[in-house]
Amino acid sequence: MTASVFDLFKIGIGPSSSHTVGPMVAAGTFLRDLQAANTLERVERVVVSLHGSLAFTCKGHGTDRAILLGLSGERPDEVDPDDVEVIQEQIRSSQSLRLLGGRKIGFNEREDLVLDFKNFLPAHSNGMRFKAFDAMGTELASEVFYSIGGGFIATEAELTSVAPMIQDDVRLPFPFKSSAEMLEMGQVSGKTITTMIMANECARRSETQVRDGIMAIWNVMTGCIDRGLTGEGKLPGGLSVRRRAAGIHRELITDAGRNAKLPHDCIDWTSLYAIAVNEENASGGRVVTAPTNGAAGVIPATIRYYREFFPASSDDGIIDFFLAATAVGSLIKQNASISGAEMGCQGEVGSASAMAAAGLAAALGGSNEQVENAAEIGLEHHLGMTCDPVGGLVQIPCIERNAMGAVKAINAASLALKGDGEHHVTLDAVIETMRQTGCDMASKYKETSQGGLAVNVVAC
Ligand code: SF4
Repeated sequence: MTASVFDLFKIGIGPSSSHTVGPMVAAGTFLRDLQAANTLERVERVVVSLHGSLAFTCKGHGTDRAILLGLSGERPDEVDPDDVEVIQEQIRSSQSLRLLGGRKIGFNEREDLVLDFKNFLPAHSNGMRFKAFDAMGTELASEVFYSIGGGFIATEAELTSVAPMIQDDVRLPFPFKSSAEMLEMGQVSGKTITTMIMANECARRSETQVRDGIMAIWNVMTGCIDRGLTGEGKLPGGLSVRRRAAGIHRELITDAGRNAKLPHDCIDWTSLYAIAVNEENASGGRVVTAPTNGAAGVIPATIRYYREFFPASSDDGIIDFFLAATAVGSLIKQNASISGAEMGCQGEVGSASAMAAAGLAAALGGSNEQVENAAEIGLEHHLGMTCDPVGGLVQIPCIERNAMGAVKAINAASLALKGDGEHHVTLDAVIETMRQTGCDMASKYKETSQGGLAVNVVAC
C-alpha cells in the first residue's frame, strides 16, 4: 500500500525513529490495548525486554528512556523535549511510574527493563517484549512489538502476515507499487507524480488539510534548523562531540559580510542546515522523521536550500517537494526498507537522499522521468553504505552523513534535470539492489555498533 506523506513525515523527538520513537509508541500501545480490554486496572507490574539492535544501542539511542516515557503515556509528537529528563529522573528516583500517566505502580528499572543481548526475536532485529502482571504475579498479557524503521511499529502477527503493513480501507486513485507503474500511470493519466500523490492524499483528507499538514511539518523542520543554528556545547552521550552548527553559521555570515564567500557557498549552507537538524536530533530535540530520525537532516536541508537559493521558490514548490519525496519513500518502504537495522545506512540516509533528490527535481519543474531519475541517482550512490554509529549514538557518522546526503541529493536532482529523463538504471532496479545488498550485509553493519567506524573509532 502506498504510504501517505503523513506516514513518512512524523513529528517526534530524537535521537532515533526506530530506537526512540518506535519503542515509545510500542510501550504506549501495549498499555492502551490493555486499557481498551479493561485490564489495565489490574496491572501491578510491567516487564519489558529489548532484543537485538535495540539492546546493543539502547543507551546511545535513548531506548530505555523512550520505554519509560511510553509507559507513562507520553507520545512522541506531544511530549515536550524539555520534560523528558524530568520524567525519567522521577521514575528512576521513585522506582515507580504512572501507567499512561494515571495509577502508580512500582518500576525497578534494573529488573523490569531488561537488555537481552543474547536472544534476537525472530521477525526483525529491533524486537521488544512487553509483559503485564497482576498483584499475585500472574501474567495478564504479553505482546511482542518490532520497531521497523521511521517510527513504524508492528506486532509479531503483523510482521509475519502477508497483508500489507500500511493499510486502510481507502481506495487510492494511483496505487502504484513500482516506479515503472508510477511512470505508466503518469503517462496514461497525463498527470505529474506530485498530482497523483496529491490525489492519493485527497482520498484520505481534503486538499486544504493536506497542504496545511505539509506546511505544518515544514514549519517544524525549519524551526528545528533554526534551533540547531543556536545550540552550543557538547552533545549528550559521553562522546564529547562538540556542536558545530552555531560556529559554522557565524563563519558563513561573517564571510558573506566581508565578501569572502567561496564558490561552493551553497554547499556549506546546505551542510550547515543538515548538521543543525541532526545536532538537535542527537540532543533529543523536536525533529521530523524524514523518513527516519537518523536521516532527519537531509530533506529539511535540501528544502531550505531550495527556499533560500531559488528566487522563484514558493510554498507550492515545497508542497510538490514533499509529494514527490513521498512517492519515492513509499516505493522504498514497500519494496525494500527505510530501516538502518534492516538495510544499513543506505536505507536511511540513502533513502532520504533519493527522496530529497526527487523532491527538488519536482519543485524545480522536472518531468516525471526526471524526478524518477533524480531519485535513482540519489539512491544508487549510497548503495552498500553501512550503519556503524560510534558508541551507539546517532552522532558519528550520522550528523555529517546527513550533510553529504543533502549535497548528493542536490547533485542528483541537477544531473537528472540536465538530462531528458532517459537513463539505463531504473529506480526499481536500484531499490531491489538495495534490498538485496541489505539482506547480504552482515548484521554487525546494521545498527548494532558492532562493526565499521563503531569499532575503529575510540568511543571515550
Ligand atoms: S549510521 Fe546511518 S543508519 Fe546508522 S544510525 Fe547513523 S544515520 Fe542511522
